[in-house]
Amino acid sequence: MADLVVVGSVALDTVTTPFGAVTEALGGAATYFSYSASFFTQVRLVGTVGEDFPSEHLDLLRHRHVDLAGLQISKGRTFRWTGEYGYDLNEAKTLDTQLNVFADFKPALPEAYKAAPFLFLANIDPVLQLDVRRQMTRTDLVALDTMNFWIQGKRDDLLRALAEVDALLINDAEARQLAGEPNLVKAARAILRLGPRTIVVKRGEYGALMLSEDEVFFVPAYPLESVFDPTGAGDTFAGGFMGYLSSQGKVDRQSVRRAIVYGSVMASFTVEDFSLDRLKRLTPEDVQRRYGAFHDLVRVDL
Ligand code: AMP
Repeated sequence: MADLVVVGSVALDTVTTPFGAVTEALGGAATYFSYSASFFTQVRLVGTVGEDFPSEHLDLLRHRHVDLAGLQISKGRTFRWTGEYGYDLNEAKTLDTQLNVFADFKPALPEAYKAAPFLFLANIDPVLQLDVRRQMTRTDLVALDTMNFWIQGKRDDLLRALAEVDALLINDAEARQLAGEPNLVKAARAILRLGPRTIVVKRGEYGALMLSEDEVFFVPAYPLESVFDPTGAGDTFAGGFMGYLSSQGKVDRQSVRRAIVYGSVMASFTVEDFSLDRLKRLTPEDVQRRYGAFHDLVRVDL
């Protein structure tokens, strides 16, 4: 098992879907990621929250043995995101983003973090992503996620960060936006020229597609009857993906394929309830059972 460092948002989310709503619930890319990855490996989190952040949320992560030495409690308010989904749960509409304490956050990585071989730059300002990337001393795999907010607002910084990562995990609309190309395969190929060797495109209920120079791999999403809130699905996917690879300590072809299935498994749980509520009830046995169900889903005799 190898350590996994993540930098990203830790947030209070206000979310409305056709099936319900939550106000100032626990959220954030690094939160979903850490919780998910903690089923597989030792996670060390880099980020910041304000003094208003409820301490029970931190206890939840501590309970999963997530290292919070790199989480600063800053003067001011926690990052807040307000979003809404229509019946097409694949697309979040952002109503409000308040960076708050993230606006002038300067990450200083604890010594224990710097030599971790796996690094995930979860969704946050690409300037922070690059700053953390450069503080790491011996990474085997660096992956990055981002969203429209940063593709529009900080494109040049994002391109600089992309040039220094091995893998990009991104959703389909954002892959198209980043590449300026409507065809997803062409968009992914164009992004490969920006730095990453591997791209994993998350397609919500349509599954996940991996592309590299010489490989294409696809996993469907698990067919669920009850989907309540897709918030965090992408980050939970990334947590399963990176968490599994860290647990194996290697990044070969077979491990990457299994990691994409584990990512899909973890994401399939998150969407079954609001915030991290389904993840909180999750057991390692649930994870293994659904991994088996995924296998059955796509097995075919040739
Ligand atoms: P996703 O996995 O894409 O559904 O990510 C949802 C999470 O991203 C939410 O919990 C939000 O708190 C967080 N988020 C939304 N907008 C941003 C942003 N601009 N930067 C960082 N995190 C964000």
